[in-house]
This record gives sequence, C-alpha cells and structure tokens, in this order.
Amino acid sequence: MTTDEPDESLLERLTTVHKRALRELRAAQTMAELDSVRRTVLGRAGELLQIRRSIGTLKLEDRRVVGAALGSAQQEVTATLQVREQELLDVEPALAEPFDVTVPAPMVDSGGLHPTIQLMYDLNDAFAALNFEVYEGPEISSELFEFDYMNFSPEHPARESMDTFWLAGSRDSSGSERLCLRPHLTGASVRYMREHPPPFRFVYPGRAYRNESTDSRHERAFFQYEVLIVDEDVPFTAGKFLVDTILDTVFGHRVETRMRTGFFPFVEPGFEIDMVCQVCDGKGCATCRGVGWLEVMPGGCPHPNVLKAGGLDPDRWMGFYVNVGLDRLVMMRYGIDDVRLFHSADLRFLGQFS
Ligand SMILES: [Zn+2]
Repeated sequence: MTTDEPDESLLERLTTVHKRALRELRAAQTMAELDSVRRTVLGRAGELLQIRRSIGTLKLEDRRVVGAALGSAQQEVTATLQVREQELLDVEPALAEPFDVTVPAPMVDSGGLHPTIQLMYDLNDAFAALNFEVYEGPEISSELFEFDYMNFSPEHPARESMDTFWLAGSRDSSGSERLCLRPHLTGASVRYMREHPPPFRFVYPGRAYRNESTDSRHERAFFQYEVLIVDEDVPFTAGKFLVDTILDTVFGHRVETRMRTGFFPFVEPGFEIDMVCQVCDGKGCATCRGVGWLEVMPGGCPHPNVLKAGGLDPDRWMGFYVNVGLDRLVMMRYGIDDVRLFHSADLRFLGQFS
C-alpha cells in the first residue's frame, strides 16, 4: 500500500512509544525500573529498533520523515534515561539494608598483658624515668657467670641447693663450658659490667629457673627483677631509695620497710629487706605468720670479687643490688594466693587483669 502521506501508523506508533518511555523513565524509582524501560525501548529487541526495521517498507520520502522523528525520539529517551539514572544514584542510600546505629556492636574479645609482665613494664617505666638502662641477659648461662663470678666457692652448697637445671651434655664440664638455665638474674650484672664503663645504673628483668618441686609459693620458672647502681660513692640510702621506688610502683603508696643482715656470696654486706604486711598493716595475721613483716627482697653491695669479675677496681667502685621476686610482688599487689596460677594459662584467672 502506498499513499502520499507518511505512514501514519508507524509515526503514531513511534509517538506512542516515545511518550510512554519518557513517562515511565520519569516515574521510575529504582535502577531496576529504569533498566526495565531501557530494555523494552532501547534494547536489541526493543520497540525503537523494531520501528527502525519497519522504515524500509515505507516510501522514500516517508522514510526521511519517520527516520528523523525516530532519531530525535531515540536521543531524547537516551538523554532522559541518563538524567534519571543520575538522580536515582544521588538519592540512593549507600547500604542495601537500612543501618540502625542504635543496635549494640557485637562484643570483641580483647587480649591483655599478663599481670607479671604488666608489673615488669611498670617498674621499667619507673626506673627509666630515673635514667636507669633496661638490660637483658641470656636465659641460658653458665657455671662461670652464675656461680664462679658470683663468688660461690667451688664446694659451696648453694651450687647444689639452688637446684639448677644443668643442660644435657655439660654436667661433667665446668666454668663457661658447664651450661645451665640461669638460677638467678645476678649473673647478668657481671655481663653488663664487662661490656660497659662505670659508673652505671641499670635494671634487668627476666625469668630464672630452679629444679624444685612446686607449691603455692614456688614455681620452676619465675620472674625476678634486679637493679644495680655502681658508682664511686654509693650510700646505703641509695639502696633504700631503690626499694622505695619498687614498692611505690607496685602498691601506689609508700610502704614501710626494714633491712636486716643477710648472707649471700655475691654481696658484702648483704641485707634481707622486709616490708610491713599489707594484709594486716603490721598488726600480725596469717599471711605474715603473726610478725607483721614480710620478707620481700634481698640486696646489698656487690662483693669485691664480683666487681673484679666485672673488670672493676673494688678499691674505687662500689654499688648496691636489689633483687625482687616479681611473682611474689604481683601476688601481694593483687592478693593472689597461689603462684602456680601465673603459668596456668587459665583465662578465667588472666582475664581479671586485662
Ligand atoms: Zn599480716
């Protein structure tokens, strides 16, 4: 069929599709709705492409009219689609699901420092503030450093009574060849002295090991904290100052102490330092066995033989040691009655300190 007018039906169909597409695009509220209109109108099997395919059946001059109308319709639909797409993107929330800021967050398990390590850090901070260096010695040491340099005579019973863990294969050796897990920290002081020119002040925290049966007050591995000052003139008040610094840090207040004579091969003179029982405030209770005082740390001046072992002239240099059983102090700090809890890895116990 041919007429002089352009094909009214194809042009009408184009106008209908065009207007409907614009209406639907402007009304679309979601990207899915937009996409549906895009596919219906502009897609590969879309209505506009179908109209384009029908143009070939028209007369030549009609093709131009419908073709021009199709082109502008396609342009307008595409432009409207882009504008609406941007509008929807601008108002679309970033999250697919609504987010309620009032809902409590899920609980996160956080770790914490072991109470012994915490106290060690607290003491390091306190002494660093006083210009003390923090030093570390090796945990595997030798008879030379732990006994010979410490002024234990060869037949001294402490070599046995300390119940040292000797390393396999070195039991029949002696001196630097006879290896052990260090039974105390004090050997590290000679290592430091041999590496540094005096005067010096330093602390050296760490583990020590004894081969003994465990009970509520004894463990095979335990922490000590040792402090040493060496100078040309170190008065006993310096020792008292070290003790006060430690106890102030542990308890947060001044604790009354007393010094009694004590014997250790590596000090001359040596002291036992007691503190007023923090449970009964000195009145006497089960913890202090009724005396009101607790033995808390040994101390004293390095023996001249120890200074010599460290390469120092004992006629010129002197010093003061304080050695603390760190686990014992933590027990007093928190009122813990069994040292074995520290190595129990029991989170019910450890979780109380984080
Ligand atoms: Zn008491």
